[in-house]
Amino acid sequence: MNRNQGLEKGDSLWTGCRLFMAEGDRGIVEDGAIAVKDGSIWWAGPASDLPKERVAPGGKVFRVGGKMVTPGLIDCHTHLIWAGSRAREFEMRLRGASYEEIARAGGGILNTVEAVRLATEDELYRQSARRVQSLLEEGVTTVEIKSGYGLATGAELKMLRVAKRLGNDFPVTVIPTFLGAHALPPEYTGRPDAYIDLVVEEMLPAVAAEGLAAAVDAFCERIAFSPAQVERVFSAARDLGFRVKLHAEQLSDQKGALMAARFDALSADHLEYLLRDGAEAMAEKDTVAVLLPGAFYFLREMKKPPVHLLRELGVPMALSTDCNPGSSPCTSPLLVMNMACVLFGLTPREALLGMTVHGARALGIQDRVGRLAAGKAADFVVWDVEEPVDLVYPMGGNPCSMVVRGGRVVVDRRNGVRSGRLQ
Ligand SMILES: [Zn+2]
Repeated sequence: MNRNQGLEKGDSLWTGCRLFMAEGDRGIVEDGAIAVKDGSIWWAGPASDLPKERVAPGGKVFRVGGKMVTPGLIDCHTHLIWAGSRAREFEMRLRGASYEEIARAGGGILNTVEAVRLATEDELYRQSARRVQSLLEEGVTTVEIKSGYGLATGAELKMLRVAKRLGNDFPVTVIPTFLGAHALPPEYTGRPDAYIDLVVEEMLPAVAAEGLAAAVDAFCERIAFSPAQVERVFSAARDLGFRVKLHAEQLSDQKGALMAARFDALSADHLEYLLRDGAEAMAEKDTVAVLLPGAFYFLREMKKPPVHLLRELGVPMALSTDCNPGSSPCTSPLLVMNMACVLFGLTPREALLGMTVHGARALGIQDRVGRLAAGKAADFVVWDVEEPVDLVYPMGGNPCSMVVRGGRVVVDRRNGVRSGRLQ
C-alpha cells in the first residue's frame, strides 16, 4: 500500500481533537486532526494544515468534539503477573512492620514466589488478565511486564509465557522483561552467587532461546543483589544481545544507577536515593529515570527522588504504576500521575510526558509509540477533558472516552464522540 496516496476507504480521520503533543511550549494543538492509515498515524496536526486533497471520501470519520487526545499510555514498569494475595502483609505493615523487616523474615517477595511456583499457567493468566484489562480501560496501550516471582528456570519461563499470551489476547502491546535477579529464592539462602550462576548459565540462555524477553532487569539493593552480582547478570545479558534496566537506589544508595549507565541501560527505576554522580552518568548515557510514586506512597517512604537534579541534568523522567502485590498494588496510571505531581512535584505536563514519550524511551520503543506523529502506531486515547491538568487533578474517576490501538477502537465509552463517513 502506498502511504503517499493519502486516506482511502477503510482508513479513518479523527477531527475536533485537542492534541497533546510532546513538542512545543504548551504542547496542545487546539483544533487538531489525526489521520490513520494501515494501523499507523499517517498525519497529525492542526486541522487547518490537513492535506484535504489526499483524503478520499468513504473513510470513517470520528468527530471528537474538543476532547483532549493523548498518545496511548505506556506503563513501562510492572510486575502484574502474580498469584495469591499480599493483603495480610499489608495489615502487618499497617501495624508497624517495615518492608525490609518483612523481607528479612521471609515474607514479602518470597510469599508471592511460592504462590507463583504453585500456580498453573492458566491460573496465573486468569489473575493477571484482570489487571491488564484495568490498565487498558484507563488508556494503557503498551505495558511492560517483568518476570521475577518464579526464581527458578521453569517458573520464570512460565511467567514470561503468560506475558506473551496476555499480549496476544488483549489489544495491548506487551513488552516482556526478564527479572530473574529479583530476590534470592529460599533454596539458595546464604548462596547468592550460586543463584547468580543459575541466572547467568541456565535462565538467561533459556529466555533468549525462546525469545521470551525484550530486556533484562535486576534488583540492586541490600535485601536483593549487590552491584557486583548484578554486573555478572548484565554482562551475560549483553553477550546475548539484551538491553538492560535496573531497580536502583530505592532503599539506599548502592551506586546501581552508575553501574547501569556503564551498561548503557535503557532505564534506572525508583531512584529515591540517587545522588549526583549517578544522575550525571544517566544523563550522559541517555538512561531514563523511571519514577514509581505508587511504591513510594504505599511503603510510606519519606525520601523523594531528586526531581530537581534530574530536570537540571536533562534526564528524561518516565512514570509507571509499578503494579505489583507487595509495594504498589496499583492498576491506575491516572492515580500515578496525580501522585507524581503531589508527592514528587512533577507538573501535569511532565507527568503525561512520563506516561507517553519517556515511557516509550524507557522501553527502547520510541520509534514506534509514545507520540502523536506521522509514522507512529495509531495508539491514542480520547479523554473527556481539555487539558493535562484536568486528567491529573482528580483522584478517582475515569474520564477515558475511547482507546484506539493500531487504528482500531478497543475501548468505547463514546461520551459525545460522533462517527460517520467522509463525504
Ligand atoms: Zn519493580
